[in-house]
Amino acid sequence: MTAAQESELLAQVPDLLFIGGDWVDSTSGRAIEVHDPSTGLVIKTIADASVADGARAVDAAVAAQDGWASTAPRVRGEILRGAFDLLQKRADEFAMLMTLEMGKPLAEARGEVAYGGEFLRWFSEEAVRIGGHYGVNPEGTGRMIVTHLPVGPSFLITPWNFPLAMATRKIAPAIAAGCTAIVKPAELTPLTTLYFAKLLEESGLPKGVLNVVTTSTSGEVSAPIIADPRLRKLSFTGSTPVGVRLLKQAADNVLRTSMELGGNAPFLVFEDADLEKAVDGAMLAKFRNVGQACTAANRFIVHESIAEDFAARVTARVTQFTIGRGTEEGVGIGPLINEDAVSKADTLVRDAVARGARVLTGGSAVEGIGTFYEPTVITEVQAGSDILREEIFGPVLSIVTFTDEADAVAKANDTEYGLVSYVFTRDLARGQRLVESLQTGMMGLNVGVVSNAAAPFGGVKQSGLGREGGAEGIGEYLETKYVLTPDPFV
Ligand code: NAP
Repeated sequence: MTAAQESELLAQVPDLLFIGGDWVDSTSGRAIEVHDPSTGLVIKTIADASVADGARAVDAAVAAQDGWASTAPRVRGEILRGAFDLLQKRADEFAMLMTLEMGKPLAEARGEVAYGGEFLRWFSEEAVRIGGHYGVNPEGTGRMIVTHLPVGPSFLITPWNFPLAMATRKIAPAIAAGCTAIVKPAELTPLTTLYFAKLLEESGLPKGVLNVVTTSTSGEVSAPIIADPRLRKLSFTGSTPVGVRLLKQAADNVLRTSMELGGNAPFLVFEDADLEKAVDGAMLAKFRNVGQACTAANRFIVHESIAEDFAARVTARVTQFTIGRGTEEGVGIGPLINEDAVSKADTLVRDAVARGARVLTGGSAVEGIGTFYEPTVITEVQAGSDILREEIFGPVLSIVTFTDEADAVAKANDTEYGLVSYVFTRDLARGQRLVESLQTGMMGLNVGVVSNAAAPFGGVKQSGLGREGGAEGIGEYLETKYVLTPDPFV
């Protein structure tokens, strides 16, 4: 895409709030400037919602709720399927938009369009499979009916790292289940959600079913929405500290909640692993999205007998990365989202080095325009280093060693997080044991990426509550209703 085509694409993205099916200006008198992290330049200015705008969005979602809940599941599904088809036609536009506002390499942005789109297709199919059951009560005196109904108006808060997929992973099941929604994208990457709302509008989504509120004052605008007694559900993806705060707010309104929070994924490589496959997996698990993924491998825990070999092999791969603006073909490492992200990665690496780790490649921020950090490998990371405890959210691969399986499991589980783990071994029995002993909601067994729209994504411990995707995903937006009727034969 040329610079002129980039401008043309950005011009097509709405710069207003989407409330009740209308594109409306905010009442705050403020605006949000969206930046390209690879240049630091403002690429678009959009509406910045006020508390009053948030309230208007809730009104719209509430007004549309009954009509949407009673819309035939097939109709709901077909709107999602239409959106899926339209997204395929606009895949290049969505990929470019994500690269512009978030920085990820274009090839990865295309991958996210494919992944994010799958939630539309999957939930278009799930919309017509909302089951229930009918049975005789144990006493034989009555008939028990169990049915599932939409939870009601839902508030969906998404992070900046996967601007499309984190939105579709919530919006699609909400729509499929018959819930209306207010979505609040991250301030750093709101454009993809706005453009996606426009796509849903074109796909025939009725007015008010989806409302989009972009704001620079998330806490201020969100709190009254969460406290509104007409709201029934909060689904959040983001950091654990913010998730904890929102859970407390949601408790006051007894909201159904889904929390997709932070991770600190262990990546275990056993002495019997196929090392080249482990290296392939490591490159994906670590460097996808420039390391800015909740599923990113944060701690490489490698058997002491192969650690040196593993480190040399990953280092050889890492040194081949091209760093640059994500819009350029061939770039493997784009910018981090902002200066804070660069400084966090740098601080963690410096702390690890000060405690005895060795840098095999990288280890510094890239000087110049944009917020780039060198793809880095550090080894001999010592216990107690901050990098083993905190989410790196950058292209830094850090290696520690283990002696035996018990040691590996103890090190892997030594975190308050429990989103995903990766294990590379050829020993089937060991793999099976680890399925049960690793405290994570998901596990990649000899693979470096687990995300799939057909699978239940989510974590345990402080990585969250609930699941997105799979058969479980729509259940997050459904209430169970039980009905008892007398024995019809008496
Ligand atoms: P974040 O700072 O927690 O923000 C996430 C979202 O919450 C953004 O839309 C943010 O809006 C909003 N927010 C922040 N404070 C809020 C408040 N007081 N009230 C209401 N909303 C508030 O996280 P992030 O930096 O965007 O994302 C990175 C984190 O997300 C990492 O920890 C990562 O592991 C996690 N993540 C988890 C998953 C998963 O599925 N488990 C997936 C992706 C990312 P503003 O942008 O306006 O601040």
